[in-house]
Amino acid sequence: MNCIFCSIIAGEAEASVVYDDANVLAFMDIRPFTSGHLLVVPKRHASGLSTLDPDDGARIFAVAQKIAAAMRTGPLPIDGVNLHLSDGAVAGQEVFHVHLHVIPRNRGDGFGLRALPRTPNRAILDSTAAVIRGALN
Ligand code: AMP
Ligand code: ZN
Repeated sequence: MNCIFCSIIAGEAEASVVYDDANVLAFMDIRPFTSGHLLVVPKRHASGLSTLDPDDGARIFAVAQKIAAAMRTGPLPIDGVNLHLSDGAVAGQEVFHVHLHVIPRNRGDGFGLRALPRTPNRAILDSTAAVIRGALN
């Protein structure tokens, strides 16, 4: 398997590591959106959410939460944090090893999600909710 994040986890590719435990690694993103932007990854390879062990999902979220808290109380001058995960090429996923972006935010830093929000009526929201609820069962 040719996965750059697996190579980093195996110590075969370089990374600037922020956090390391038995199941999770966090390291700096090489093309940061903002200063301090980093990635939290499960050590067990999963290409996307559909194959991610939910326990690993919980673990990467817990580590991201811990790092975000440290960023907000530590020496970095930040106003907020975005957590972001892209699942699938159409969602912007470029590296097919699940990763949670931790993106420190400051006013005027230029980062943002582009979207064209609409305002559907309640009937449309209810029917979409029913479709998704049905898929959960
Ligand atoms: P995504 O678009 O969510 O798949 O994000 C992939 C992220 O991985 C991008 O922000 C890249 O800059 C980052 N990235 C790719 N290769 C490396 C690497 N070798 N070390 C650190 N970050 C990387
Ligand atoms: Zn991998």
